Amino acid sequence: MEKAIIYARVSTKEQAEEGYSLASQIKLLRDYVDKNSLDVVREFVIPESASGRQERKTFKEMMEYCKKRGISHILCEKVDRITRNLQDAVWIDGWLQDNQERRIHFVKQNLVIHQNAKSYEKFQWDIYVVLARQYSNNLSEETKKGLVEKAEEGWYPGPNKCGYVTVGDRGHKVWEIDRSATSEAPFIFKAFTLYSQGGYTISTIRDKLFKEGWMSPSGGMLPRASIHTVLSDPFYCGKFMWNGKEYEGKHEPIIHEETFALAQQKLKRQLKNGKVRKHEFLYAGLLHCASCKSSVSAEVQKGHTYYRCTQYRPCKERKCVREEAITAQIIHALDALRIIHADVTDWLRRALKECHEGEKHYHARVMKDLTDKLTKIKARIDLLYDDRADKRIDKEFFEERLSQNRRQQQEVIRKIARHKEAAINYAKTASDILAVSQGARELFERLELKDKRDLFKFILSDARLQDGTLLFAYNAPFNKVHEIATFQPQDSRENKGVLEALWGARSAMLPGLDDFPTGEAIKFFKQLFGILEFPATTAEQAERFAAMSLYSSSIFFQ
Ligand SMILES: [Zn+2]
Repeated sequence: MEKAIIYARVSTKEQAEEGYSLASQIKLLRDYVDKNSLDVVREFVIPESASGRQERKTFKEMMEYCKKRGISHILCEKVDRITRNLQDAVWIDGWLQDNQERRIHFVKQNLVIHQNAKSYEKFQWDIYVVLARQYSNNLSEETKKGLVEKAEEGWYPGPNKCGYVTVGDRGHKVWEIDRSATSEAPFIFKAFTLYSQGGYTISTIRDKLFKEGWMSPSGGMLPRASIHTVLSDPFYCGKFMWNGKEYEGKHEPIIHEETFALAQQKLKRQLKNGKVRKHEFLYAGLLHCASCKSSVSAEVQKGHTYYRCTQYRPCKERKCVREEAITAQIIHALDALRIIHADVTDWLRRALKECHEGEKHYHARVMKDLTDKLTKIKARIDLLYDDRADKRIDKEFFEERLSQNRRQQQEVIRKIARHKEAAINYAKTASDILAVSQGARELFERLELKDKRDLFKFILSDARLQDGTLLFAYNAPFNKVHEIATFQPQDSRENKGVLEALWGARSAMLPGLDDFPTGEAIKFFKQLFGILEFPATTAEQAERFAAMSLYSSSIFFQ
């Protein structure tokens, strides 16, 4: 008999409801064991009173136990028993990947996941795992949030700016003009002034200021590109760019805004006249070599741009790849996001619509409940004051009841604030993502270099060149769109079956999320794209590109 372990867990909330006791869960799992001739060597049970930390500890213990004792079967009631904590899903997936004998049984859902499980079963599981991965990756979003806050306070959160120094402790750094003897600030001031007044090009400015002592750390002339970077940086007139957005800075500017504006006009003109050839390559910094992981550099030869391994590390890769050849492969990758099956598109559209409606109703209902509650508390407080004024209640009772009501009031106000924040339109972002993916190819072809690069980064990652072939991964959630788009069941009957299975699996797959709309579709999308909410950057990017896309996201609401 093969060895198995049982993992059971209930939350306090469920415990109160009928048929959800820990005992009934364990009984279900034990019955399954008997029927499937497995041998349970240990039961890992998370009592309803367990704290999150205890829960994690038991889970870790279980995984270690399975690995150490070579146990290949984990029995569990439902998927959400094990994926309450998203990191756990990633661990389980890794455990399954390591050995094809290993299985996790979701007994109530009749779902057994292993390496050779049926494709749609794996699809369900994959959605979980990908989301879980995305979620843990997005923890770094918190850091990003901190940086955005800093930017909003008016302090550039980025790295060095020549001519400036940072002062203050980590996290509270502010920018000041560098007034040391070796400061570049006077040169920057002069470069702007001369350039904006006219009669100078970047080259002549470079020559003039080099003679006056503006040089690279090695003592050479500064590259023209560095001067160009300085002259086009709004930081020097008191603003700054962060994540594609302009902010008003609190740092002291080196030059006046007008000087900066003049310089920008001249830069544009100089570019047009072709006096400055700015080497901006489409895929610069976006690719690396598949064999040695070195970066891939671009160069122009006979009017064509070529990319090849920099061979920073020893590497046999010698192939030069023309930019057009890379673009063709990217176009192919973007094309692969297009969902061709009409019934799948139809299904997504229906689900999105339901999701959108559900979200609206849910939000409205919650807000109404909360404001009603607030009104009631307010009335109770008023009454207390009246009663006290009329001496119907004593001081002690009055104060006790008053503070009790005030506490409730604060709680409700907090909840309202939270829900207002959470009202970021989930369905909107989901449909934006679909719109972007469905129109990605045309969008990419139409966009300007910078936007093209942004779109590339939004959709693709880990792009590598291997003997001229572009290898890459789709970023979440586009990997899921790709999976849907390329899902090719054998025949239409099975196709229908898979769709039904997906449709039916939606609720079964959902972790216990108390705070979500009751509509089923939103649950599915939350699994498909991201658990609680899209990271702000994803939502922003999706909105930005959807707006540029020919495929208006509204097609998904028709
Ligand atoms: Zn290489």
